[in-house]
Amino acid sequence: MLVVMDSDATAEQIQTVIDRVRELDLTPHPLPGATRTAIGITGNTAAIETSLFETLPGVKECIRVTKPFKLASREMHRDDTVIRLPQGTFGPGHFVVIAGPCSVENEAMIQRTAEFLMENGVRFLRAGAFKPRTSPYAFQGLGLEGLKILERVRQRTGIGIVTELMDSEYVSAVADAADVIQIGARNMQNFSLLRKVSQVRKPVLLKRGLSATLEEWLMAAEYVMSGGNYQVILCERGVRTFSDHSRNTLDLSVIPPCKSLSHLPIIVDPSHGTGRRAYVPAMALAALAAGADGLLIEVHPDPDRAMSDGPQSLDFAGFQKLMDQLQRVARVLDKSLN
Ligand code: PEP
Ligand code: MN
Repeated sequence: MLVVMDSDATAEQIQTVIDRVRELDLTPHPLPGATRTAIGITGNTAAIETSLFETLPGVKECIRVTKPFKLASREMHRDDTVIRLPQGTFGPGHFVVIAGPCSVENEAMIQRTAEFLMENGVRFLRAGAFKPRTSPYAFQGLGLEGLKILERVRQRTGIGIVTELMDSEYVSAVADAADVIQIGARNMQNFSLLRKVSQVRKPVLLKRGLSATLEEWLMAAEYVMSGGNYQVILCERGVRTFSDHSRNTLDLSVIPPCKSLSHLPIIVDPSHGTGRRAYVPAMALAALAAGADGLLIEVHPDPDRAMSDGPQSLDFAGFQKLMDQLQRVARVLDKSLN
């Protein structure tokens, strides 16, 4: 349920509502808005009696949230969520490009890629220190050493770091190294991991599971938000279908319903979505046109020698060409590329 306060409600009146929620053994989520504060309530398994709150001073109205995902739903939060970081803003009017190699392979290639990206106006580098690989014999990432490389490159260049967290064991190490914590497709329903990142105060990039419905995906976001971490960025990366012409089927058609059901920003990963670098630019441009709030693109200084996901990684020249095209389309759509 959502308790909407009067626009002139006092801090004391807001606190009274919060205390009443706690007395009922439920969780209050204060949601400050442009004109008024609302308090989301979670933790109830049955409907809450609205009269418990409607009679309190400063309360304007109580609204029932009908969707199973509460905090992620637009019923609870009408305006789009805006996530502001020093390196860029996720939200309306913006289009954020996050790019980088699939894995942290060594310090020189991360440094080189970070400098290249900054020179081209990209201020988030994504690279994995921990890699979820189908084969146990494939390169698994440099682990903690990879995180240290990312931290040093961030210090030297100022680029924002996005990197994947796979195990609960490394929550604080990844949270320290990252500006945005990636939860991979295979972990979208790792509920204990989601609960762990719900306690962290860093934005979470939540990839869609390989066979997840939109509702399941938003329920995963709800796990993160229910613990008090409201900064969730969704990432469509393709789902498994019978189609075998591409690595996955990039479901751009999920963007409009996602925007209608949820206020969370959604970005698109056309690299894992297609699996082939030749197909990446078309789907990246389509994602921008379809209303996405940004992209996650794999780019590598020497893709044919990459230790993971080389076939879907753009080289620097290909990436620059795509950035130029994105700039032009973004202008038409009144979005600023950052
Ligand atoms: C990745 O981003 O490199 C990755 C492993 O992605 P996903 O979890 O979407 O497969
Ligand atoms: Mn990859």
